[in-house]
Amino acid sequence: MFGKGLVKGMQITWKEFWAPKATIQYPEHQNPIPDRFHGRFVLDLNNCIACGMCANACPNKVISLRKQKVGTKQFLTNYVMNIQYCMFCGLCVESCPKDALHFSKVINMNQYFYNNIPLVLVQREAPAEPVEKEKPAAKPTSQPKADKSAPTAKSEVAASKASDKEGE
Ligand code: SF4
Ligand code: SF4
Repeated sequence: MFGKGLVKGMQITWKEFWAPKATIQYPEHQNPIPDRFHGRFVLDLNNCIACGMCANACPNKVISLRKQKVGTKQFLTNYVMNIQYCMFCGLCVESCPKDALHFSKVINMNQYFYNNIPLVLVQREAPAEPVEKEKPAAKPTSQPKADKSAPTAKSEVAASKASDKEGE
């Protein structure tokens, strides 16, 4: 009885030893991450208008932001996510009207110390004066503008028709 069970167990072990492995040697090897993966957050500061809609949309109150008025616009000075309470539902990303908040494919967000867990995406001082954005340089026009006084094909055809009538 004992010997039979042992042989059966060893048969399974032997079979699984040669079967293809589902596990990989992480972190040396990593499985490909899908495009729509919900990884570490990325904030596009050029698009963010510090409206706070992402913070309002979060059911777990993960996002806290601070802003300061500079000129006529709000300037984002601090944006922190208490990522330990985040469930990566994506409601904050969906609610952003400027498409400024995104998920990335970064999965490694572990920290050794608890105080380092909050994800600080912005920490900066507001400028005293509004910062003017550089305007893109005007594209050089390769073709010269058409001279309105110059005769066009249509006007030439009309003129020739008029001269024909006069000749008749
Ligand atoms: S993914 Fe969900 S839980 Fe996490 S910050 Fe965004 S809204 Fe909050
Ligand atoms: S909703 Fe978008 S634009 Fe508004 S504060 Fe959040 S990231 Fe910035």
